Amino acid sequence: MARDRSPRVGGAVGGVTRAITHAICRVGGHDVVTRRRESAVMARAPRAVGYQTSSEGTTNCRDDEASRPKRQKAKQMDNCEHDDALVLTPTTRATGFAQTRRSSMRLALASLLGSHLSRALLTRARRPSPCQSQAAAAFLRTSQMAAGPLTMRPGRAFLTARSATKDFTKPAARFTPVPKRVVGKVTRGVVGRGLVTTNASGDAKSDSSSSSSSQILPERLTWPARSHGAGTLRSAKIGQTITLCGWIDKQRDMGGLTFCDVRDHTGLAQIVGDDDTPAEARNLLSAVRAEWVVAVTGVVRERKDKNSRIPTGDVELLVTNVQVLNTVGKSLPFQISGDGDDDKTSEEVRLKNRVLDLRRPSMTANLKLRAKTIRNLRNVLEKNNWDFMEVETPILTRSTPEGARDYLVPSRLQPGSCYALPQSPQLFKQMLMVAGVDRYYQVARCFRDEDLRSDRQPEFTQLDIEMAFTDMDGILELGEDLMCAAFEGGIGVELPRPFLRMTYADAMTKYGSDKPDLRYGLEMCVLNELLRGSEFKLFADAIESGGVVKALAVPEGDKISNSKLKPKGDVFNEAVKGGAGGLAFVRVGADGLTLDGGKALCEALQPVSEQLVKNVPDAGPGSLILFGVGDEPSTNKALDRVRQYIAKEVLHLVPCASEDKAGHEDGGNRNHHAALWITEFPMFETNHDENRLEALHHPFTAPNQDDVVDGGDITKARAVAYDLVYNGVEVGGGSLRIYRRDVQEKVFDAIGLSKKDAEEKFGYLMDAFQFGAPPHGGMAFGVDRLVMLLAGAKSIRDVIAFPKTATATCLLTQAPGTVTDAQLKDLHVAKLKSEKNPLAEDEK
Ligand code: ASP
Repeated sequence: MARDRSPRVGGAVGGVTRAITHAICRVGGHDVVTRRRESAVMARAPRAVGYQTSSEGTTNCRDDEASRPKRQKAKQMDNCEHDDALVLTPTTRATGFAQTRRSSMRLALASLLGSHLSRALLTRARRPSPCQSQAAAAFLRTSQMAAGPLTMRPGRAFLTARSATKDFTKPAARFTPVPKRVVGKVTRGVVGRGLVTTNASGDAKSDSSSSSSSQILPERLTWPARSHGAGTLRSAKIGQTITLCGWIDKQRDMGGLTFCDVRDHTGLAQIVGDDDTPAEARNLLSAVRAEWVVAVTGVVRERKDKNSRIPTGDVELLVTNVQVLNTVGKSLPFQISGDGDDDKTSEEVRLKNRVLDLRRPSMTANLKLRAKTIRNLRNVLEKNNWDFMEVETPILTRSTPEGARDYLVPSRLQPGSCYALPQSPQLFKQMLMVAGVDRYYQVARCFRDEDLRSDRQPEFTQLDIEMAFTDMDGILELGEDLMCAAFEGGIGVELPRPFLRMTYADAMTKYGSDKPDLRYGLEMCVLNELLRGSEFKLFADAIESGGVVKALAVPEGDKISNSKLKPKGDVFNEAVKGGAGGLAFVRVGADGLTLDGGKALCEALQPVSEQLVKNVPDAGPGSLILFGVGDEPSTNKALDRVRQYIAKEVLHLVPCASEDKAGHEDGGNRNHHAALWITEFPMFETNHDENRLEALHHPFTAPNQDDVVDGGDITKARAVAYDLVYNGVEVGGGSLRIYRRDVQEKVFDAIGLSKKDAEEKFGYLMDAFQFGAPPHGGMAFGVDRLVMLLAGAKSIRDVIAFPKTATATCLLTQAPGTVTDAQLKDLHVAKLKSEKNPLAEDEK
């Protein structure tokens, strides 16, 4: 029951009335005018803003609504707090109300009793008038929002209701007039949790004497089944009696007609109640609110006003029966219908309320696309000519190095030991090859404890694949089959095959990245030969000390002004964010030879301008040439960043995410879909912090045999590894594997793993290699990233049902959570002294 924080008796009656009047107005965002002797609609507002109320509801209420300054009213209601109570007191002078103010009253009731109210209590009033009855009926129809049993005394219709929302000024419910016919007459009886008893004409009766009951939330739980999905109704079904189950998307009460949209996972359909609809069903249709759960039965008929914007727009369901299965007991944090406040709602609020967020049609579509994509990938793998078999591998396992930190699970039974969650099933899939599985796949969950970005999650899903007796071409062919099936089956886009192949070295030289976006040019080149010993000291020194000078040309250079390129300009800033000290540039004159720009730079470059223009791809008359200088990795990083920024943000050479999606939908365009393989990665890269080599891919990748036979240095070898890149995003990657112990030992040695450590960590794999391991190789696709690209989503979080935030927390469940000291003790885990366990108190 509502906590009563206001005095019930006495109080400044006139003030009360005004306050009430205004409160109602604010709740609805609509002017509801109550008049003395006709009806009083009162709001019990917090004392803090000085409102009081009368228990009797016989107030000298005046219609001075118009005279009260709007700002003041707004302020009063802005001050209302969570749990403020509103009181509606219909009085006995019903005639005037009925004639002049009925619709206002209806609006107020409908609004107040909408989804903003969680609890209500109906009590007193001696002789119910039509107006009281109306209040009572409206209350009864919505009383399923009450938290506990509600008492309605015979002949009394004094209504109080408690707000469940903090902010009265933003009602979720729309105004919906309460139609006359639903008004029940309260006689006597007890209203249980939402149980309404009425006689056949809709009048309320004692529940003991009720012959036909109209129940909003029946006492019994029921599990009705649908005959059709709401989104599947079409003209072919006209005349059929069907049942839909789902959520109320929208409700519109037009007096004689009540329309609702019912939504489920298949879409939405309009349902309608008219004068011929049984009263009980009609009453319920009028009562329902957004996101209530219903089962409705009716006959499909052709719609008078067709709606071409939705697939079910030609038909509607004329309702014969309505069952309310559940209601909304809290205010909705955002709108679900039509994706509501999609872009306006913060991701934090969406993740906290993920259940509702996923109910939004766009998120439902993402989940569906994800499921469809996985289905399409499985179909390719299980087809006879590929004949893959899915095998599950352990989650509680030993560390599998993929370059990230492990998630550890302390063992209770083995004090001091930990399982590691798999960073990938890499070692198991290789052992399955030794086991003779031949073609393995798994939709596998992987765990990596690393810093998160929009395309990374601590746990993510891979399509993991391994094949025995195949060369690299065999694996790339499978990769293209999979990628094409995902695009074709998922969004109807045919990717051009075969995919381009580019070596790692070329990709780094031309694009400064191992995942270049090839939807646009802006290719780079190295100018070390041309500029060695240059007059421009910065260039000469960099080359002299083993660094590089690289350049890229923007053909229509005048599209980028000098102010963007000079300090504080946005292009300059990108270079700096990429790690560069600055951004040197020159402009090529109309003659294709004369250079314009910084004096020293132009003077130094002018003598070699002809070669410069010839060397830099796309340079020519009117172009702008940008330079990067320094050690190779940081120069690449900075120029890659500048290249992408210019293409996307300055010259708009690629469509933004939403246009990309549109591109997909209309069958796509080659420029929107640049898929390529990057091959011949180096085996190792240097970890400068630890001054040692690390495997660039993972240490089970085979070295290119041409680089290591005949005494070649394995540390300088290329790997037989490949990545699949789509529009600048790495979608997957893999390698041919080492399948002999002696070679595996050499790689462990190269990365500084002692024989003892190698044996301890990976002895089981090397032992397996000694039992006749077949040559094999494989790859893995990042399912989340792939679906993100297909959906045109901005983040992988939008295609994962329950993702984590950048700090690896789940806002819905609040994981990770604190555990008790006893649990830690069980796991033989001791806390550092400085760590206080917030649960420790509970344990005492
Ligand atoms: N295990 C690798 C990864 O997770 C993929 C592979 O080499 O098959 O990146």
